[in-house]
Amino acid sequence: MASREQLKAVAASCMKYQAEGFVSSAGAVDKSCENCVNFDGYKCTVNAFDKVLSGLDQG
Ligand code: SF4
Repeated sequence: MASREQLKAVAASCMKYQAEGFVSSAGAVDKSCENCVNFDGYKCTVNAFDKVLSGLDQG
C-alpha cells in the first residue's frame, strides 16, 4: 500500500486523475488518488499509479 504522500504526489502528476465528485469550498481540491474516480480504495484501477510513481523524482 502506498503512503498518503505518494498518493498525493502521484495524483498531482497523473494525467488520468479525475476528481471524485467532491468540491472543496476552499477552492483547490487536495489531489490524491484517494479522491480519484480510478482508485478503488486500495489501488489504481487503470494501472497508472506505478507508471506515474516511477516517473517521479522521489526515490
Ligand atoms: S488513482 Fe490512478 S488514475 Fe487516479 S490519480 Fe491515482 S494513479 Fe492517477
